[in-house]
Amino acid sequence: MISEKDLESMGYYDMFPDADPVNWADFYSGWVEKKILTEGQERLFENTLGLVGEAGEVAEKMKKLVRDSSRFTNEEIMNELGDVVFYATALANIYGRGLQELLELNIKKLDDRQKRNKLRGSGDNR
Ligand SMILES: [Mg+2]
Repeated sequence: MISEKDLESMGYYDMFPDADPVNWADFYSGWVEKKILTEGQERLFENTLGLVGEAGEVAEKMKKLVRDSSRFTNEEIMNELGDVVFYATALANIYGRGLQELLELNIKKLDDRQKRNKLRGSGDNR
């Protein structure tokens, strides 16, 4: 369990002085911003291509599992999924929303689809 002292030493309160100290999504959104190397349109493309590339790395592991029975460790797949979350957060940050709002919107959307029995099918607005 991480302590408030740990959060302070990690710079949490500097990034989000008014944030809930247990809101990891806000902390992570700010942490991602400190790792971004590009700006403007270059950032938009770099982060989008990064997201697709990292999702591709997840897909590649699954492909090799099916094709070659090549196994991967939980740590390996978690590392790639973390890279996907990094770029998804970076993109959410561009639009001023952050990971917390991204997660909330996704939960709301999928809960609504589930209530309407629309989890299956296709289309963004079903
Ligand atoms: Mg990766």
